[in-house]
Amino acid sequence: MAPVTIDNIQVITTQPAGSRLVIVKVNTSEPGLYGLGCATFTQRWRAVVAALEGHLIPFATGRDVSRIEEFWQMATVHSYWRNGPVLNNAISGIDQALWDIKGKMAGMPVYDLLGGKSREAAACYSHANGRSPEEVVDSVLKLQAEGYRYIRIQMGGYGGKGDQMVKPEGAPDGAYYDPRAYCRNMLKMMAHVRSEVGDELELLHDIHERLQPIHAIQFAKDVEEFKLFFLEDALAPEDNEWFKIMRGQAATPLAMGELFNSPQEWIPLIQNRLIDYMRMHVSQMGGITPAKHIAAMGHQYNVKTAWHGPGDTSPVGHAANLHLDLWAPNFGIQEWCRFNELCYEMFPGLPEVRNGYMYPNDKPGLGIDIDEKLAAKYPAQDTIEDWTQTRWPDGTPARP
Ligand code: MG
Repeated sequence: MAPVTIDNIQVITTQPAGSRLVIVKVNTSEPGLYGLGCATFTQRWRAVVAALEGHLIPFATGRDVSRIEEFWQMATVHSYWRNGPVLNNAISGIDQALWDIKGKMAGMPVYDLLGGKSREAAACYSHANGRSPEEVVDSVLKLQAEGYRYIRIQMGGYGGKGDQMVKPEGAPDGAYYDPRAYCRNMLKMMAHVRSEVGDELELLHDIHERLQPIHAIQFAKDVEEFKLFFLEDALAPEDNEWFKIMRGQAATPLAMGELFNSPQEWIPLIQNRLIDYMRMHVSQMGGITPAKHIAAMGHQYNVKTAWHGPGDTSPVGHAANLHLDLWAPNFGIQEWCRFNELCYEMFPGLPEVRNGYMYPNDKPGLGIDIDEKLAAKYPAQDTIEDWTQTRWPDGTPARP
């Protein structure tokens, strides 16, 4: 029997909410059989489209759809230079679509292809925010009322908003924050939230790599008393070596990885047991294939998964996360961004969250589709991002 092959690949860009999304649709030689994948790198989406159209689509067209592993391994080294966000996302778009196709051909959801369910649904955490500790508590209580038992608490957005920031004359515009004020304010906020909501609610917090390493270490020690579920991105990937010192100093559970591109970043942290949760952005690491490999490695080291799940992971990417979550023996938690109604209309089959759990629809493949006509009505916009133009109080460019 002749193999089913990749006939043509479409790149669909759209923006139904805040993030510019890149979706790959792989059409096969079998009429009506296609798969979808997430290739969303929202800040540089045009670069991913160019990588797909100029390089990866010609490379992939005509290949046997069944050989996902071979495709992934070959696509990754074919450029010789590798492990960057643009190419990884482009490869992910095709990789995830091939998993979707394989599931449809087998009549099985992707979690069954991976080894079957370890659980019925994935526990999710959602984001609470506010300008004051009281507002954060209000936001937490609303989410709790919806059934969330894991809630990430932030105040004033990432890095907080320094209350009494003294900028130099002529300071340029930007997203300013004061890392020292942030540390003080977050500790007060967490103390207030704990005192209001009690001990049972699982609380999370994201430093978003905004502190100097020694201050992050101090912070990880200071928050021990609040018994966080995890502290996220305490350090920047460039400061990975500092995790050894942090680990020796504090028993706060650590989650890391949304900015990682390369095995050189995640392997040492897992192997040396320096983190508790790996939370790579699955399209950014290259798709379901590498995520499956590294989740299995993490299981051997007792490091759990907490795949990145904000609005700049597309609905298709969230479906991919969910299938990995349902299978992985070492699933930890799933971040969830609460998509709007339009996203549910544009992406039929987008996973639903009820009472803090995300459920699959048990259709073959990833179980998600796209309404291309509707997507075309919301084209991706060329906007120059403000929130990543981050500065310290004296105006110095800083990490977002
Ligand atoms: Mg994060």
